[in-house]
Amino acid sequence: MATNLFQFQLNATDGNARAGVFSTPHGDLQTPVFAPVGTQATVKALTPLQLEQLGATLVLSNTYHLYLRPGADLVAEMGGLHRFMQWPHPMLTDSGGFQVFSLAEMRKVDDDGVTFKSHIDGSTHRFTPEKAIAIEEKLGADIIMAFDECAEPHDRVYVERAMQRTHAWAERCLRAQTRPDQALFGIVQGGIFPDLREHSARAIAGMGFAGHAIGGLSVGEGKPEMYAMIEVVNAILPADKPRYLMGVGTVEDLLNGIARGVDIFDCVLPTRLARHQAAMTRTGRLNLLNAVHAHDPRPIDEHCGCYTCRTFTRAYLRHLIVAKEMLAATLVSIHNLYTLVELAKEARRAIFEGRFERFAAEILQNME
Ligand SMILES: [Zn+2]
Repeated sequence: MATNLFQFQLNATDGNARAGVFSTPHGDLQTPVFAPVGTQATVKALTPLQLEQLGATLVLSNTYHLYLRPGADLVAEMGGLHRFMQWPHPMLTDSGGFQVFSLAEMRKVDDDGVTFKSHIDGSTHRFTPEKAIAIEEKLGADIIMAFDECAEPHDRVYVERAMQRTHAWAERCLRAQTRPDQALFGIVQGGIFPDLREHSARAIAGMGFAGHAIGGLSVGEGKPEMYAMIEVVNAILPADKPRYLMGVGTVEDLLNGIARGVDIFDCVLPTRLARHQAAMTRTGRLNLLNAVHAHDPRPIDEHCGCYTCRTFTRAYLRHLIVAKEMLAATLVSIHNLYTLVELAKEARRAIFEGRFERFAAEILQNME
């Protein structure tokens, strides 16, 4: 669906790294950008105000989860996802494909769609490309994703079959879309096979999506393989549309993705780690439960500008964790998300100033 509500402007490039602005009905996204994940229409342990204050501009939510609970009709009845969860800025929903293939208890895939059992109550459901788009239209995010099949990345026979299916489903998603105020992104698959990735990137790029995503990575393959696949795909995807690397969110992967021309990232890792006492920093991970922090008056990261680091000591955070206080998850989530959100912003500035390579190399050198 051709729509001029979504404009992608490339403002600067530095090597293959790009800085741009993607306009959406709920505001402009400055890229590169990292999106916190709000699986159940909430980024766990954080209010929308806290998300705004840590600098988040884009939030992702999961179609599979919202479809099962509370249901897409209820979200639509409440005015759509933005109003339901009170996030007035840009939002993205995935298509449910990844969760159906990773979470659902039983699934049976055929060329028309997937039948699966809910991981919550065992009830039977069916997703087709048309159904996924209809659900995403009810949810109402600014960026919506095509329904794809995510295969185990090393099994070539399965990867190839899933890729062909993903292409056929992508066409059906485009035909099924009715809302002009949502940007539909196509997803490139192909596992860890360069020729399949190349084939998939050409097929998806030729369909006329508003943006493109690289799916099926960060699912167990090695980092060199992941970076190689990003290079193969981004050499083909059109430069004038945003590129989204799905499910990727560590300091190292963000920098490597940006260096290879990725604009948008999302990942549950920062908030998931935070609920398991782990702080992400530019030099590595910190287990805050560790006894060495018991008397430590320093913040998690002395160079971090987040609310948690400006305010609280490691000793206090460790106390909260030991006492099983809820505030621990909130404060560490603020820090972890800020780390990636701010990294993307600083990368953007470095791209404008033509020093991205040095910026990334300095951080990567200091990683543990
Ligand atoms: Zn911090």
